[in-house]
Amino acid sequence: MKIAILKERRNGETRVAATPDTVKKLVAGGHDIRIEKGAGDAASLPDNAYEAAGAKTGTLAATLKGADAIFCVRAPDDATLAKLPKGILLVGQIEPHGNKALAKVLADAGIDSLAMEFTPRITRAQAMDALSSQSNLAGYRAVIEASGLYGRAFPMMMTAAGTIAPAKAFVMGAGVAGLQAIATARRLGAMVSATDVRPAAKEQVASLGAKFIAVEDEEFKAAETAGGYAKEMSAEYRAKQAELVAAHIAKQDVVVTTALIPGRPAPKLITKKMVEAMKPGSVIVDLAAAMGGNCELTKADEVVEHQGVKIAGYANLPGRLAADASALYAKNLVNLLPLLVAEDGAKAPQWEDEIIAAMAITRDGKIVHDTLK
Ligand code: NAD
Repeated sequence: MKIAILKERRNGETRVAATPDTVKKLVAGGHDIRIEKGAGDAASLPDNAYEAAGAKTGTLAATLKGADAIFCVRAPDDATLAKLPKGILLVGQIEPHGNKALAKVLADAGIDSLAMEFTPRITRAQAMDALSSQSNLAGYRAVIEASGLYGRAFPMMMTAAGTIAPAKAFVMGAGVAGLQAIATARRLGAMVSATDVRPAAKEQVASLGAKFIAVEDEEFKAAETAGGYAKEMSAEYRAKQAELVAAHIAKQDVVVTTALIPGRPAPKLITKKMVEAMKPGSVIVDLAAAMGGNCELTKADEVVEHQGVKIAGYANLPGRLAADASALYAKNLVNLLPLLVAEDGAKAPQWEDEIIAAMAITRDGKIVHDTLK
């Protein structure tokens, strides 16, 4: 298969969908890899490293010429989409729920597409699961960002000049990102607590040595979908949760929020009033910024300060670890490849396979994903 890797055009996107490492694997598998010049620059992956791995680098037009498929991090911009040949297969984190017009544009242009964020949460698909590979890094980076913004140390330090108290960190949402945030904050020496609406999270939080805090009523016991995600909670539950969180958050130094519900705006868990109850110098890092934020005061891609509390809304935290995030994402794509080709390496997506069926957005000029029809 002839695979094109384009330079990401979204503002601030530093990641790339292939690395010299994955190019080597793809070329060894008999595939023809074309990389748009400069595609890896922001991830410290120069063109010559791709060339040494066996890829051909060139202009956008040269990269697209004769390509069977495009591997990308985010959906290409409109100008690039207009240049894609009919029948090409686009694979990437194309955010079909965040950009509802895109599915129609792709269908009308006859572009077949697979959304990496729809990889099903089944054991067989774990190695292809980009949401997990990127969320894990985001959770780590959120705590590193918090430690940079926090004007104090995380661990307890007993020195001749006096004792520094450990930071109190609270993680809201204990999925992939939240669990990594808990582990990272613990490694830095903070006293960590966490909350979630899924009962399964309780044991996972405890296993990392953090305290679990949640409203554990009947609704909580049924809050996990068959797919492993959280349901949107009722207004009644949210009110009880807000009361519990308000009391807890006022005592925290660092809060990392990661709560998401697939296809829905992020739940608002921290009100302006709760922020005002926090101590000056405290820090909130909101990983849900791109989906509207878990905090009422979050602004995407900004660090805002309200009454001495800093609220960071970095919308692309994996992009702040571009080299590692690209390496894992590119491996997710390589792991998906066997489901996209026939034995001889020619393009042949296995549309009936449950993984591809779950990820398919458009095929043969039609929108095929149930949630987008
Ligand atoms: P996510 O990014 O969709 O959401 C982050 C967390 O926010 C989740 O834990 C969710 O329960 C929580 N949340 C949602 N609403 C909330 C609220 N109102 N208050 C507090 N917390 C709230 O989740 P994710 O990281 O993608 O993980 C979801 C689940 O899927 C986890 O159990 C994870 O372990 C599981 N998972 C399974 C596989 C697999 O089996 N292959 C792969 C990845 C993740």
